[in-house]
Amino acid sequence: MFDKILIANRGEIALRVIRACREMGITSVAVHSTADADAMHVRMADESVCIGPPAGAQSYLSIPAIISACEITGAQAVHPGYGFLSENANFVQIIEDHGITFIGPSAEDIRTMGDKITAKDTAKRLGIPVVPGSDGGVPDIATAKVVAADMGYPVIIKATAGGGGRGMKVAETEADLEMAFSTARSEAKAAFGNDEVYMEKYLQKPRHIEVQVFGDGKGNGVHLAERDCSLQRRHQKVFEEAPGPCISPEERARIGKICADAVGEMSYSGAGTVEFLYEDGEFYFIEMNTRLQVEHPVTEAIFGVDLVREQIRVAAGQPLSFTQEDLQINGHAIEVRINAEKLPNFSPCPGKITAYHAPGGLGVRMDSALYDGYSIPPYYDSLIGKLIVHGRDRPEALARLSRALGELIVDGIDTTVPLFHALLEEPDVQSGDYGIHWLERWLEENLQG
Ligand code: ADP
Repeated sequence: MFDKILIANRGEIALRVIRACREMGITSVAVHSTADADAMHVRMADESVCIGPPAGAQSYLSIPAIISACEITGAQAVHPGYGFLSENANFVQIIEDHGITFIGPSAEDIRTMGDKITAKDTAKRLGIPVVPGSDGGVPDIATAKVVAADMGYPVIIKATAGGGGRGMKVAETEADLEMAFSTARSEAKAAFGNDEVYMEKYLQKPRHIEVQVFGDGKGNGVHLAERDCSLQRRHQKVFEEAPGPCISPEERARIGKICADAVGEMSYSGAGTVEFLYEDGEFYFIEMNTRLQVEHPVTEAIFGVDLVREQIRVAAGQPLSFTQEDLQINGHAIEVRINAEKLPNFSPCPGKITAYHAPGGLGVRMDSALYDGYSIPPYYDSLIGKLIVHGRDRPEALARLSRALGELIVDGIDTTVPLFHALLEEPDVQSGDYGIHWLERWLEENLQG
């Protein structure tokens, strides 16, 4: 086992990893930009190193700075969290060349899944059902027209290098296609430096269902059921739950086994998420994330396992601490993402926290790096906390969420908490009857109108 792990991240996810390290008796090293000198992850880690100025590109994304920090502190492994360098195959290659272990899958698996076309081809080969779409990249508008006419409208144009919902455009009819195609391409170019796009049939009322998988790197794979992350704004998740309210035990076992077998077949190492759109009883693969997800705590809640601990164990060459049979679902869990954003437009709202009180009690977990008097810097993601609740069943989890949200105090800035209070009043949210377009429509009618 490692003696010392460096966490190449910040905020709540850095804390999350530090906590796992502490329970495992591993020394943790935080890295931080000059803007984060007072951040909670720096205070909570055993050691810390300043790695650069505020801009992410010069600090949390700087590979030389992170390698130097490993060398200075003698860290043997790096946990990347999510975002930043977590899906950067080049980074994995470089640190491993320096004799440092990456806590995550191999550079090759990250590369395969990071390119969405290769990912879809790989999924198909491994027996995972995929969304109907173009055969690989679509080079020009003439080809796009042929592909779309073949599939039927509406269609979605997506960036091969995509992520975070960027570089994605829907065309309802052929009249929209030219515009959607060129916008998707230029967005992809700007966001990822790669303008290759591909096309898929645009599903009208799917749910977003993702399967949590784990591989031991030696050919064994397990699944930890699914999460439903259908409540999204601009293709970004805001409310996640496990298990999926609309997935039957038979469907769970079937899709779970397909994913677990695929992970075994790849000799995949560590945590991964296979994302699907789900419509009329069918699963359609959209992508695989080769890292820990923001919403992993809902899975931890229903299985009572520590996924970060498991990632560290697997990276150190130890076997998984559970078998498929050990993994039994207990109850229902929900997470809401609390962002420093001002409604109704969700404009970023950094600033000083004048009072902070986290909710508590049975079945309540608050993952946040906030504290009284902390100033949220304007340079990074607006996620400031995740409130996770666990109950014996979905109604209990919903009631607990409402209760816990009522206890939470974040003064001094605006947050997305009022959105969740309002959503909990909605019959569709109470019954779990929503697809991926539900929230956008609701926001138009209720907030932005
Ligand atoms: P990213 O990597 O940018 O997050 P994904 O491929 O995971 O992109 O898609 C993100 C979201 O976009 C999905 O959860 C869904 O809401 C929407 N989406 C993607 N593909 C389709 C599709 N074929 N039909 C309908 N919605 C889609």
